[in-house]
Amino acid sequence: NQAKQSHKVFDWYTSDLEEKMAWRLGLIRQLRSDFEQSKLEVWYQPQFSLKTQQIIGCEALLRWPSGNGRYISPGIFVPLAESSGLIVEIGQWVLEQACQQQKRFAQLGLDICVAVNVSVPQFKTPDYAKTVMSTLEKYQVPSSKIELEVTESVVMDEISSVINTLDELKRYGIEVAIDDFGTGFSSLSYLQKLPLSRLKIDRAFIKDIPESDTGAIAELIVSLGKNLGLKTIAEGVETQVQLERLQQMGCDEIQGFLLAKPMPVDELMVFAQNKLGS
Ligand code: C2E
Ligand code: MG
Ligand code: MG
Ligand code: MG
Repeated sequence: NQAKQSHKVFDWYTSDLEEKMAWRLGLIRQLRSDFEQSKLEVWYQPQFSLKTQQIIGCEALLRWPSGNGRYISPGIFVPLAESSGLIVEIGQWVLEQACQQQKRFAQLGLDICVAVNVSVPQFKTPDYAKTVMSTLEKYQVPSSKIELEVTESVVMDEISSVINTLDELKRYGIEVAIDDFGTGFSSLSYLQKLPLSRLKIDRAFIKDIPESDTGAIAELIVSLGKNLGLKTIAEGVETQVQLERLQQMGCDEIQGFLLAKPMPVDELMVFAQNKLGS
């Protein structure tokens, strides 16, 4: 009886697992097919200087429409695209979209950088830095106008090849920011050696200011950035109080729903012109 029961439990467990795997595979297949049919979108979220309150950049964010105006969260499909390797192709497409967006800004005389998220499998492809550089050349976008965002997991992975790629990107003039900073396991001594441009303070250290969080970690990251000669940008700023605290800390830039949500290209162009136009 007992054996029978544990067998039942096992059956239940495997079918649950199988279901999950089938669901994942189905989603990956759908993602691949929608990508090939050009159904993916790139939206952009503006980034602002805390000194001037001007738009200084925007972050490219993937959007996967699932019909009737709804979207599947990147939090769900980006990890699937990573594990299936599909992120390499999709990521290249996002970079090309970002280059075209940067050109649209430039044509209107708007000086706005575009930041692009890069996953570990992309960063590890051979000649990654060269691929990025030749993409920028293809679209005639200055290397200073595209920034790459990598997470701490990229930086901690096979550190010597990562350093080579980062060095090469720097030689080309392409800046690299560490995304979600403070949530991974960056070794602080490596941080000092890596050619980086910005630390993006994770939303986790912003969202509870001032209620249950004094902002001590955010402040620590800002001063770490200052000491290392890196700019700091806070993610997920939703309230005026948070903005003011970050200003007091000397944080350079912010991104968050308070000032602008991610938006499609058309909306972004109107937003940017209203903000920066005379
Ligand atoms: P991320 O790079 O850290 O992007 C910031 C995320 O925070 C975005 O979520 C953005 O919509 C959200 N956010 C911004 N301001 C606020 C705020 O004030 N409050 C709240 N609650 N959220 C805010 P999103 O667009 O859902 O993207 C999630 C993650 O998916 C990104 O995190 C990034 O890791 C990944 N991702 C998105 N697009 C790409 C891409 O093109 N390539 C790769 N490799 N990853 C991507
Ligand atoms: Mg990012
Ligand atoms: Mg982030
Ligand atoms: Mg993230």
